Parts: sequence; structure tokens; C-alpha cells
Amino acid sequence: MNCAAFGHQKVYSLKVEQESISQLEIDRDTTDMLIGNSFIGFLMTIFAFSGLLFFFESDSPSTFAQKFQVWMLMMAVSITRLIDAIYWRVNLAGTAYYPRPALIRFSIGLYLTASIWALYSVLFYPTMGTIELAATMVVLSAMSGGAGTVLAPNKNLVGFYSTALLVPMSLCAIFDENGSFFVLGILGLIFWFGIFTSAFRYHKFFISTVHLKAKNNKLMEQMKIERNETEKVNQLLIASNKKLDASNLNLEAEVERRTAALYRLSNKDPLTDLPNRNGFLKHLNNLLDTSRALENSLAVLFIDLDGFKQVNDSLGHKIGDIVLVEIAKRLRNYTEDNHLGRWGGDEFVAVIPYANIDTAKAVALAMRSGVTVPIIADDNQITLDATIGIAMFPAHGETALDLIQHADLTMYDQKRKQRGSVSVFNEALLSEIKQEQKLCERLRTAIENGELTVFYQPIINASTKSVSTVEALLRWKCDDDYISPTVFIPLAEKSGLMPEIGAWVLNRALIDLSHWRFSNEISISVNVSVAQLLDDNFSKVLDHALKSTQIAPEQLHLEITESVFAIDKKLVGKRVSELVERKVKISIDDFGTGYSSLSRLQSIPFDFIKIDRSFIQNTTEESDTIVRATILMAKEFGCKTIAEGIETAEHEAHLAMLGADYLQGFYFAKPMNANHFISWYNENY
Ligand code: C2E
Ligand code: MG
Ligand code: MG
Repeated sequence: MNCAAFGHQKVYSLKVEQESISQLEIDRDTTDMLIGNSFIGFLMTIFAFSGLLFFFESDSPSTFAQKFQVWMLMMAVSITRLIDAIYWRVNLAGTAYYPRPALIRFSIGLYLTASIWALYSVLFYPTMGTIELAATMVVLSAMSGGAGTVLAPNKNLVGFYSTALLVPMSLCAIFDENGSFFVLGILGLIFWFGIFTSAFRYHKFFISTVHLKAKNNKLMEQMKIERNETEKVNQLLIASNKKLDASNLNLEAEVERRTAALYRLSNKDPLTDLPNRNGFLKHLNNLLDTSRALENSLAVLFIDLDGFKQVNDSLGHKIGDIVLVEIAKRLRNYTEDNHLGRWGGDEFVAVIPYANIDTAKAVALAMRSGVTVPIIADDNQITLDATIGIAMFPAHGETALDLIQHADLTMYDQKRKQRGSVSVFNEALLSEIKQEQKLCERLRTAIENGELTVFYQPIINASTKSVSTVEALLRWKCDDDYISPTVFIPLAEKSGLMPEIGAWVLNRALIDLSHWRFSNEISISVNVSVAQLLDDNFSKVLDHALKSTQIAPEQLHLEITESVFAIDKKLVGKRVSELVERKVKISIDDFGTGYSSLSRLQSIPFDFIKIDRSFIQNTTEESDTIVRATILMAKEFGCKTIAEGIETAEHEAHLAMLGADYLQGFYFAKPMNANHFISWYNENY
């Protein structure tokens, strides 16, 4: 049974693939209608047939026997059909079964039933009495009439069944020799025709109903699928909406976070958390707008730390950072929020709204005293100071940048005069600065305009009194005025002109030396500034000058001021070593004026120490001690000493007594141009 069902199912699924779903549905509906309504038909057939056989007496036992056989056949067919219908009801009805086999079985059963009826009516017509004949006709008409609707789903079946049941018997009646049944026969045919046409109409109606139902089913199915799809899409939409909402929230938070980070990055100094240049300028501009509107004054302070560079160089950047954070914290105590900014490095700026000069000075002094309190960082006690420049709005400038620049210039100028102090901007300073700027402009064209010359001052051997070296000293004649190198050299350094000017001096001095023909061989001493020394091109310039003039490197002394080593001892040391490798001699100029001791310079390979003239001209005990100690230490290091600023015979005698190896000063000769120097030399030696 299971196997059969399985086989059946398999056939069905195969067929399903071959046939259109709607035709299958029509067949299934047809089969459902036919078999589903057949039960009463079977029972009626069984009862009607049995009734006709047993109710009416047969004309002879042999007729009865024949009838009985036909009855047996009808019973067999009907019961088989009943069983088949039950099988259908139990196993197939309501399922998506393949309808053809059941339909074929049903059709065969029906054809057999109809044929047996036809056989019965024709075969036993002659034996029937009037009542039996009429009753048989009524039974057949009733059966056929009932079948008109029940079998209507299948045209062939309904046609065959009603024809088989009514036509043979009607014809028998029409053609009966006893004409009294003629009318009955005609009525039978009319009835058959009526059943036939109405069954056909009913069939049509059935088919269109089935079609509609199939269509409806299809639509329902499609609607179901679409509803499912819509549901699915809805679910997806809801899910992605949720996701979108979540990511929108994230995005908003991210945008906010980034905007804040960007703001911090562009407006805050990450180390001290103070406003940076950008941030401070914004605040200052806002405050200036208010001050302008209310016609109030305002003070801008430029604060530069004194001694911070040494802290950074000697104790490292980590300590340097700790110090800056601490200083920022202290300075904050004297200003309102956002009124203090970090301008860069060890420079801070502050704004004090509504302040007059006196309050600005008072705040600046308070800030200074805050800065000078010792700072403890990693077991180091650090004491700093600050130089502060003040510029007032509107007296000293209208814009934020002008005010900051003027406060900065004031601080810078004050730093040169007296570190660790407070100063207020004034117009004289500005004109001084403007003058400097003018000079700077002129200096740019000084070389090509032939305004620069090199003067020479001899350096005398203290024991032999002969000229051992000449120092090349630069002179600038600008509009008939000689401008001191102490004025224009720092300017040249600031404006980046020094490497070019220095190269010119070096070449000029070596060319002059190469032209001189003196009885003694003399060396030349050339001053080298920081900017020159740190310039990457310097060694190339040097090599070229030596090569083109054929001067032996040993004949060239390069003077480096002691303060240069405070800038970057390591880098300067490296550069000096490169010079020493070329066999050039190194002199430490203005020794004693910088903060370093001789021992600090121990690692620098130098040949001469030039003791600054302030120690020579200042004849105190203290100066003498310093000079003596310097000469002693120089001897220890194996280098020679040159005493600068010998102006008198006493100076000469004193320094010779103290043991200086060489002497230089107005007492022997002032710096002279090349021609004068040659005459001077020839006159004296
Ligand atoms: P410095 O190298 O110490 O030069 C010695 C300075 O002392 C010269 O001043 C010189 O004229 C002056 N001097 C010499 N003997 C005496 C004296 O007995 N008494 C007094 N009161 N002064 C004396 P100068 O020529 O005005 O130069 C000043 C500074 O300018 C130089 O000091 C040097 O540092 C710098 N300088 C001069 N020329 C150059 C140069 O070509 N390159 C660089 N980088 N710096 C230069
Ligand atoms: Mg010098
Ligand atoms: Mg000097």
C-alpha cells in the first residue's frame, strides 16, 4: 500500500511537471465532484436494481434467473465502485493527488453501470408487464435525471449514462408492436434530450466555476507569496532601519567626537591644554571687538622663559615638558579662562581686558614671581625666570597681530638689556626696530654694492713680539657711516644673510693673505658665527676658499664665540671636529663672557683661547684670578691663550707676566684695511 502510494506519488510528481497546474486542478475538481457525489448514486443503483428484480414478479423462472445474473453483475460493479470510492475518500480526497487514475476507474465503473442498465432494459423489455415497464422507465428516468447534475463535470460520462439509461428503453417502447407505449418512449427521449442539454449547460457552468476557482486559488497563492515577500521585505526594512538608526547614532557621536578633536587639534596646545596660537588669536580678536565697542583698553603680555633652553638641553625634553605644564598652571592663576595661550616653545601670551599700564605691569610682575618659584621635576630643582613684554590696546596697536608682535619685540629687546624683567612697548623701540629693518634691507645688497671691507688687526707673540696672526674684522660702510659689526652681524644672523656674508669675508681674508709677502709667515684668524657654523654648506665654502688661494689650512684660525656652545653643544662639537679634520686651527673667542667653564668645553678640540677684553681691562683681583686660572687650564689642555683688548703698556706687561701667549689690542694696532696693514707691518717689522 505504501509502495503503491509512493509509486503513485512519484507518477504524480512526474506528471505535475509535464502538465500545467490549472488543467490538473480542473481534472482534480472534476474527479472530486464525480466521486464525491457518487455514493448516493451507488446506493440508489443497488436499491433500484434490487427493487426492480425482487418487487416485480418475473414471467418465468428462467427470466428471473437471467435477471438475477444481470443483478449479480450490477451488484459486483456497484460494490467495486463503492470500494473504489471509499478508497478515494480515505486516501486521496483533500490531497494534491493526481486525478487521472481515479477518474479512469470511475469512468470505467460508470460505463459498466450504464451498459448493464442498457442491457437490462433492452434484454428484459419484452418480459416486462405494463407496471414493471412503467416503473423501470421511471427508475431509469430518475437515475438519469439525478446523474444530469452529478455527472455534469464530465460531458462524455453524463452523455453516455443518460443515453444508455433512457435511449434503448425509449426506442424499445416506440417500436413496440403494442403502440400503447409509444408515448412513453417519446417522453423518454424528450426527457433524455432535456437531461442531455441541461447537463451540457451545467457542464459549461462547472468548467467556468472550476476555472474561476483555479484562478482564485492562483491569485490567493500569489497573494500569499506576495504577502510573505512583503512581510520578509518589511522585516528586512525594519532590521536595516534599526541598523541605520544605530549607525546614525554612532555616526553622529563620531562626528561630534571628531569635531571636538579637530577643534582641540586646531585650537589647543596638546601639552599644556592652553589655547594655541590659533585659539588664542580667536579669543583675543573677540575681546578686541568688545574693547573697541566699549572703548576700553586692553593689555597683551608676551612672556618668554629665561633658562628654559638649558633645562631642555641638560635635563631632557621630558623634564622640559613637565616644567612647561607647571609654568602654564601657574600663569593660569593670573588670568581668566582662555586669556592665556601658548605661543610656541617657552613663549606664552596673555590678555588682560580693561587693564591700564599699571595693572598690566602689576600682573606681569606677579606672573614673574610665580615663575621664579623653584620647580621640582624628577628630583631636579629648577629655577626659571621670565622676561615679559607688554603692549596696550589701542595705544600700541589696533589688531591682535600688531599687539602680539609689539609685545614680542618689547620682550625681545628687554631680554637683550635685562633678562628676567618686565617692559612696556614704546615708540622709540618701534623706531629702533624699524631702523633695524631698514638696515637689514640695506645689508642684503651690501656685498654687490661693494660696501663691505675686511680690516685686519695683528695678534702679537708675547715673547718674540712678532706678528703671529691677523684677525679679520668686517666693516660695513653704509652711506658714509661705518656701522659696527656688533650691530649688523646679529642682524645678518637674524635675516639669514650670515652664511653669504661670512663666506665673502673668508674668501676676502684668504685672498688678501695669499697676496701678502712678509718676512715672517703669518696666519689669519676669521670669525665664524653660529649661523655659518651650522650651515651645511660651510665646509664646502671653506674647502673652496683654501683650495683657490692655496693657503695651508694650518694658517687659518677660525674664531668661534664661546656662547655658540650653549646652542647645541653636540652639534657644534661635531661641526668643529669636521673643521679640525681639515687641520684648520680653532680659537674660542670672547672666553669668559659665556656661562660655560673651560671644563665644559673640554670635549671640543680647540687650539687657542681668546680671553675677553673685559678681564684684561678690568684690573681687579677677581679678574686677575680668572685670567690666571684660564691660562693655567689652557696649558693643561695644551692650547695657547690670546689676551684681547691690550690698550696700554701696563696691560701688555701685566698679561705677559700672567703668562698669556699672544696679545691683541689697540696698544699694538687698531684694525686697519689691507693697505694700511701692509704699510703698518713694513714700518714696524
Ligand atoms: P671680536 O671677534 O672679539 O673682535 C675683537 C673686537 O674688539 C673688534 O671689534 C676689535 O676692533 C675690538 N678691539 C680690538 N682691540 C681692542 C682694544 O684694545 N680695545 C677695544 N675697546 N676694542 C678692541 P669689532 O671689529 O667692532 O668687532 C666686534 C665683533 O664683531 C667681533 O668681536 C666679532 O665678534 C664680530 N665680528 C667682526 N667681524 C666679523 C666677521 O667677519 N664675522 C663674524 N662672524 N663676526 C665678526
Ligand atoms: Mg674675534
Ligand atoms: Mg673677541
